[in-house]
Amino acid sequence: MSSEQQMDQSQLLSSSTANKMIINTFKKKNQKKKKKKNKMMRKCAAKTGATDDTYDLVTFDDLPGYMKDNEYIRNYYRANWPLKQALFSVFRWHNETLNVWTHLLGFILFVGLTCSNMIQVPPVVEFLNIFTTWSSPLGSVGNVSHNSKNFFSDTTKLIDLKHSSSFGMEITQPEVEATRWPFFVFLGGSMFCLLSSSICHLFCCHSHPLNILMLRLDYVGIAVMIITSFFPPIYYIFQCSPHWQILYLSGITIMGIFTIITLLSPVFSTNKFRAFRASLFVAMGLFGLIPAVHAMIVNWNEPSRNIILGYELAMALSYLIGTVFYVTRIPERWRPGWFDLAGHSHQIFHVFVIMGALSHYGAALVFLDFRSKIGCETKM
Ligand SMILES: [Zn+2]
Repeated sequence: MSSEQQMDQSQLLSSSTANKMIINTFKKKNQKKKKKKNKMMRKCAAKTGATDDTYDLVTFDDLPGYMKDNEYIRNYYRANWPLKQALFSVFRWHNETLNVWTHLLGFILFVGLTCSNMIQVPPVVEFLNIFTTWSSPLGSVGNVSHNSKNFFSDTTKLIDLKHSSSFGMEITQPEVEATRWPFFVFLGGSMFCLLSSSICHLFCCHSHPLNILMLRLDYVGIAVMIITSFFPPIYYIFQCSPHWQILYLSGITIMGIFTIITLLSPVFSTNKFRAFRASLFVAMGLFGLIPAVHAMIVNWNEPSRNIILGYELAMALSYLIGTVFYVTRIPERWRPGWFDLAGHSHQIFHVFVIMGALSHYGAALVFLDFRSKIGCETKM
């Protein structure tokens, strides 16, 4: 080996050693960074109960502008998270966890209520009877209508809610004809509202465009719940006065469709139209007063009046108290940062929304019972 070759080799060796040293320094720096990041994440995880390999939660001051909404909630925000992380954050502690779960549990509750009422609908009862005939003398399916097409029609013979069950209990002859679709319209509207609210709270941290879309979905959910809530009372109260029934139901439906189109249109979603959007919700609520006063006047002597009024008053109070919490941001405004994870106004608002919906469900059951007992012979 010549001396030149030896020089080249030693130069090569020294340069590769230098490279190795540089790489090692980078590696060490990266490891340090990683350790620091892991330490921060563990710190955050310890506070929030999250596991490793998760995204960091940030403070209100670190939020992007579009997410800065409630300055009294100081910590545990998710910001610009990918969809997958946002989805799985349903099982993590952050300041939206209880907002998601309150309405998700409300949704599950309403699915349960819908199912429990569905199994009392004739075609489903008949289906269930196939499985229950062995264990009970329930073979008398002739008690209920065989025509599934009649499910949504006025001519369906239905079973009284309070006197029947599909599982091995006696099914009594229906007292009068009744219709259930308005009742299910309300249940469907409530489920849509609660589910869209949960989805909104879960994914609104993803990006600005999705945040806007989610907020619109949330508003539409509220509008759908308001519209569908009108269906059972108007339908059952004015069942014997079809002209009023059609007038009120089509009125609220047209108003509702107009509200939804407005809420979905980008032009009306701007801050400039905030008051206009609020006035649409108020207009829908006020519209409800017309049939309510009308119904009160014509049914003043109806014995179930007080029960229905009690339920509807409980509903109105629930929504009112919930809205007060929503607007005033109590209690977090008294102690900013104290109620970040649990107990802040929006969570309380959600609980009152569910209580309001349950009160209205109670009233809807009474309406259904009233109509199945009284029919249209009574003067309205
Ligand atoms: Zn909400």
